[in-house]
Amino acid sequence: MRLSKGYWKTYKEIPSDAEIPSHQLMMRAGLIFKTAAGIYSYLPMALRAIHKIEAIIRKEHKRINAHEIQMSMVTPGDLWKESGRWDTMGSEMARLKDAAGRDMCLSPTNEETITDIFRMTVDSYKQLPLSLYQINTKFRDELRPRFGLMRGREFLMKDAYSFHIDKDSLDEVYNDFYQCYSNIFESLGLDYIVVEADAGAMASSDQKTHEFQVIADNGEDTVVVCHETSYAANVEKAKSKRGKLDFLPEAELKEISTPNAKTIAEVCELLGKPKHQSLKSLVYSAIYGEKEVHYLILLLGDDELNEVKLKSFLSCDHLAPTKDSILTELNLPIGYIGPIGASLPIVFDEAVDLNCSYVAGANKVDTHFEGLTPSRDVKNFKTADLRLAQEGDYDQSGKYKIEIKRGIEVGHIFQLGNKYSKAMNATVLDKNGKAVAPLMGCYGIGVTRTLQAAIEQNHDENGIIWPKPIAPYHIYLGVIAKKDPTKKIAQELYEELLKEGFEVLFDDRGVGPGVMFKDADLIGLPIRVVIGERDFEKDGEIEIFLRKSGEKFKVQRDELISEVKKYWEGL
Ligand code: ATP
Ligand code: MG
Repeated sequence: MRLSKGYWKTYKEIPSDAEIPSHQLMMRAGLIFKTAAGIYSYLPMALRAIHKIEAIIRKEHKRINAHEIQMSMVTPGDLWKESGRWDTMGSEMARLKDAAGRDMCLSPTNEETITDIFRMTVDSYKQLPLSLYQINTKFRDELRPRFGLMRGREFLMKDAYSFHIDKDSLDEVYNDFYQCYSNIFESLGLDYIVVEADAGAMASSDQKTHEFQVIADNGEDTVVVCHETSYAANVEKAKSKRGKLDFLPEAELKEISTPNAKTIAEVCELLGKPKHQSLKSLVYSAIYGEKEVHYLILLLGDDELNEVKLKSFLSCDHLAPTKDSILTELNLPIGYIGPIGASLPIVFDEAVDLNCSYVAGANKVDTHFEGLTPSRDVKNFKTADLRLAQEGDYDQSGKYKIEIKRGIEVGHIFQLGNKYSKAMNATVLDKNGKAVAPLMGCYGIGVTRTLQAAIEQNHDENGIIWPKPIAPYHIYLGVIAKKDPTKKIAQELYEELLKEGFEVLFDDRGVGPGVMFKDADLIGLPIRVVIGERDFEKDGEIEIFLRKSGEKFKVQRDELISEVKKYWEGL
């Protein structure tokens, strides 16, 4: 593309709402335009990269025999009422009424639509397994849209759905998608890991789910990895063990005065004890349909609760910390809550050694217990793995250290079981002519999130460093010349590079070197070629610059094409 005839604008200023580098760079490099909070328009440079991501996605989906379709963006509320999600989706789903007053919504995801298509178009087990996918706009009215395309309200998603007569078939196709996703993120040139994810409270234990996470310091997700055992899991689900701790042996139960010491830190400081010799008491309210149950959760004083694990353990619909007003009604004094005398169901985290003694609240203001030994002093409790993995932990064998990293969830694959097919009465006839609800899988990739994740992972202080497979153009060709022959040679080089199959952004705007080099660094195409009047007319030299390594080479005009080809191959 000749920039003199192009449509591209770059900016020096960092937009005030752009908190992370990739968002700043996308705005500054003129990739996207903010139309409203969390709603962006994609400008030519971004669109070219998006099309490349889509092409890679399509190629890999073809290999696993998934068929591309495009579902409507607006779905009738009736479908969501059939699945039961009209009432449970919450404010993320944007609802509207059509002119006839019917409920409609902007698709945040498409299980309902696909299940409707399936039940009307597929009849027999012989047509299974079947995988369908689309690349389409999703709308989720996220409460906190942020980081540009990373957490948008309107975004592009590739979503696929598969249908199966039995679990073996679901497992097989699930593995195909696992491999397909690995190939996609590999082909995109991204540093990613696959982690075990949380399947949600209602999932059965054999329902698999994995997330594809691009490792980046600014990622919103936390992942736990253990190199030695190749274990990797989202922290929501991760199991890990504490290292050896010096717990106190069983001791006499003693009430002690702890005036104004409400937090673990205050109590432990007052008593001169490390935090893990105390118990943290948390009260949570779990909602089951119309019913609410309050639970007392006990963790080691320096552990944090993993709410996702707790929600799974309690198998409830909703979970939240109990409100202060309810704690007062339950006679639980904030800052002094503990297991003795609390008339709530009690759950201890598994990291608590029940035969050792701890400091814990005495359910009396300004008072704690010392020597509280759970197995001796607490009646009726359960234990579960409820703690959040933390730095310094070991894997489950207790042998190897785990690492905690930040990640961006770019893909998610999920076994759904027959939840939607059953609820929406989608059936096929099995071998015996019996109508059965097929099992389903669903598989998503955040296309626009992936684009930004690629930039978050590949940039420096001067701009983007595009991974080769998705760079909007291959080469930034700049000419700094007022007249021929340099100007003319630049034109010739442009034509020749195009003929060789390169995608070339030809900066023929006539701007000075300062502006040109800044823009070239900012947009960060893999190779920059600059022909400048002064050097070219003096020594016949043209400069090749590799954006990623920062290497520069001077070459002669007649060797330019072969040299560019060589460097391109080597990238
Ligand atoms: P998150 O936990 O980040 O909110 P999710 O688990 O709700 O995402 P899925 O329903 O699994 O998302 O959607 C599939 C993929 O769509 C995600 O892996 C992610 O890449 C992408 N995605 C989800 N929400 C957004 C968003 N608000 N903006 C951009 N991409 C998104
Ligand atoms: Mg997800």
